[in-house]
Amino acid sequence: MPFNAPPGTDPERHTERLPRRIYRLRMLGMGLGALPIGMVLLENQAGAGHWLFLLFTTVVWPQLALWLALRHPVPFRGEIRNLLVDSILAGMWVPLMAFNLLPSVLLVTLATVDKISTGIDRLWYWSLPLMAAGAVAAGMASGFEVQAVTSMPVMVACLPMLLIHTIAVSQASYRLVRKVKRQNRQLDELSRRDTLTALDSRRYWQEQAALLLDQCADTGEPATLLMIDIDHFKAINDRHGHAAGDDVLRATAEVIRQSIRGHDAAGRLGGDEFAVLLRGTDVDAAGIVAQRIREGVEALQVDSAPGLRPTVSLGLAKTTGAAGLRAWLEAADRALYQAKSRGRNQLAIDDGLQAIVDTP
Ligand code: GH3
Ligand code: MG
Repeated sequence: MPFNAPPGTDPERHTERLPRRIYRLRMLGMGLGALPIGMVLLENQAGAGHWLFLLFTTVVWPQLALWLALRHPVPFRGEIRNLLVDSILAGMWVPLMAFNLLPSVLLVTLATVDKISTGIDRLWYWSLPLMAAGAVAAGMASGFEVQAVTSMPVMVACLPMLLIHTIAVSQASYRLVRKVKRQNRQLDELSRRDTLTALDSRRYWQEQAALLLDQCADTGEPATLLMIDIDHFKAINDRHGHAAGDDVLRATAEVIRQSIRGHDAAGRLGGDEFAVLLRGTDVDAAGIVAQRIREGVEALQVDSAPGLRPTVSLGLAKTTGAAGLRAWLEAADRALYQAKSRGRNQLAIDDGLQAIVDTP
């Protein structure tokens, strides 16, 4: 049977830890199960064979299971076999308790819940026929005696198992949910960051741009979009190497970060292209920020590329109102194209129809 470790677990560590973790749970579960089973055996005046089998199930089997799992070439697989033996034992106790209703239903249910809560693929599904086979085998050996009515003492003896097992399984689920939430938060954080520059990722930056555009449409506050592209970056890579190219990207990102305010949003759109959202800023004020970035990059010295004087071209566009994010990006791109075609290392401003070039 090809069983896989639960998703999100390290198979090696899981393999090592599972038998010991299950041993503690098995001791607890079997110990709690001994109460109602023992009470039923007392009421039914069961013989020594039943009592010896109870001793085996609740005391001997947990030790044997741990020993078998640890000496298995793959302890994880050995433990899966043990879990299925647990189900057979639970099934066997149903006729051995003469089908006493409450403890029988409880044993079958909790044995199934245990399999489901391991998170191991298809384990519970395989345990059902084995449980049925255990019941048939033990029923044939003991004569299928039926005394289904559950007395008050047996009900009381069922309570610790019911309460403690339910709380233990809920706690395990709670821990799992918290872990998944924490990992989702980490994933979310990772997806928001560009790994090379630690600026916003393209996707996250675009989300913010769309939000800002909606805000501007509602409140009428100004905002500008600044598109920045490193000049002749391909040549920098070719001449100084890809690692030096990465250093230039990181240094450019740092200049951008230092030149804007906390509530502006800077992202790397991909390759050597960056974009900045300047909130509450008109084109004149944004032009000053853009020139600060241009001069900052011009002054950069990159250790891994001695003698290199990187430059950037910049395109600026004010909010396009109802025209949407795409039109805003196109306007800034148009201005950037103008800055490139007029000789690079300069800022161009899109005024709607054409770009005005502002050379250094
Ligand atoms: P222009 O002045 O017209 O912008 O010229 P350019 O050479 O910068 O033009 P282009 O945008 O075509 O070049 C971008 C280059 O950036 C091409 C690609 O190999 C390189 N690149 C993209 N991503 C990375 C990266 O993460 N690290 C490095 N080092 N290079 C990258
Ligand atoms: Mg470029």
